[in-house]
Amino acid sequence: PAIAIEQKVNVKNPRSTVATTTEIYDYLRIIFARIGRTYSPVSGREVKCHSINDVMASILSGDSKTAYILADLNWAGREDKVELMLRLKEEGYSRFFGDEGIIRIEDIMKMADKGEYPNHLDLLIDRLKLPEFKDCLPYSETGEPWSQNEWEDLQTRLRSSIDTAFRVGEGKLILRKDNSVEEYSNRFELDGITFRQPDEYLFSFNSPLGACPVCGGLGKIIGVSEDLVIPDKTKSIYDGAIACWKGESMGWFRDHLIKVASRYGIPVFEPYCNLSQKVKDIIWDGHSVEGDDNSIVGINEFFKWVEANRYKIQYKYMLSRFSGRTTCHACHGTRLRPEALYVKVGGRTIAELLDMNVDALLDFFSSLKLTEYENSIVRKAVEEIVSRLKYIKDVGLSYLTLSRACNTLSGGESQRIN
Ligand SMILES: [Zn+2]
Repeated sequence: PAIAIEQKVNVKNPRSTVATTTEIYDYLRIIFARIGRTYSPVSGREVKCHSINDVMASILSGDSKTAYILADLNWAGREDKVELMLRLKEEGYSRFFGDEGIIRIEDIMKMADKGEYPNHLDLLIDRLKLPEFKDCLPYSETGEPWSQNEWEDLQTRLRSSIDTAFRVGEGKLILRKDNSVEEYSNRFELDGITFRQPDEYLFSFNSPLGACPVCGGLGKIIGVSEDLVIPDKTKSIYDGAIACWKGESMGWFRDHLIKVASRYGIPVFEPYCNLSQKVKDIIWDGHSVEGDDNSIVGINEFFKWVEANRYKIQYKYMLSRFSGRTTCHACHGTRLRPEALYVKVGGRTIAELLDMNVDALLDFFSSLKLTEYENSIVRKAVEEIVSRLKYIKDVGLSYLTLSRACNTLSGGESQRIN
């Protein structure tokens, strides 16, 4: 007699992936929230947010005998210079630091009466004489070792002054030492953008705080589908890879693209699958410029035009023929907000890690270099991930990528990872 064995594939939730069912995703979120570094999409530079400790460390590094802790008043850009002076005077501040050193508030007010202002001005919060250091221990100028109390008092005073400078300077502090001027900011800003401090929600596509706003965290939308528009990716543009640009009327768009291709660096004889992502982005998202007949018409722009004409039957037909479930164009299927992908660990975004298979991710973690501090706050999470990855490898599924949707797994695969 035949024996029927039932295999259960019981995944209805489209949000479920290999990473989420194995909880690897939860641990990745913890790691990215705690030690992720944010990089500006404009300049690619790391966005840094200074703490009181960063300023303390510089002041006590032993390379200066005096330190001026100043609050950045954004003086040059202010319209309300007189009001600001009056307010600061009321709050008890009396000294500033200008181009020629310390300047008193009375002198600035006298200048202001004549309609003149210093070019540059920071508010002096504190001026300190610093100890000399021998073997990391503080000594006075005369060579006397500092008492424990003196040393603790200095640190308390520094903390309080730095805190005040950040507050009055709305996050911007200037530190003047004997031979250097350093700027600090505790705002999370760069290139004119204020960034979000990473937290666990930022990396969750099941949370509105982390999910891509276009696809709602599904990674797929109903729209113009790349697979339908370019059904045969081994074809070149010249050979008609773009299926919607065929025939008597629509062929014009193919011919136009070929005509303007060299201007945009598009190799028209190259199979579509060999084109770089940058070139594909131009073909899809390129936009015509009014009055410039030799500007590109991108595929998405073309379909916007089709959409606008959908009351005509042939355009309506065209839209439905090339529309389907397709990768979200905003998050490229990563399901996450763009901000989440500004954050990297070991030079990789969370989406890049999730696109790796189990073997590659194990390699990533075994070669990940962390500072002692970073290690102390994420060690447990890393261990949890590695032990789960090893388990998946042991049951023979090391080829799976972590972002693989569970509803696309075979019954056997599904049972083994659960
Ligand atoms: Zn999306």
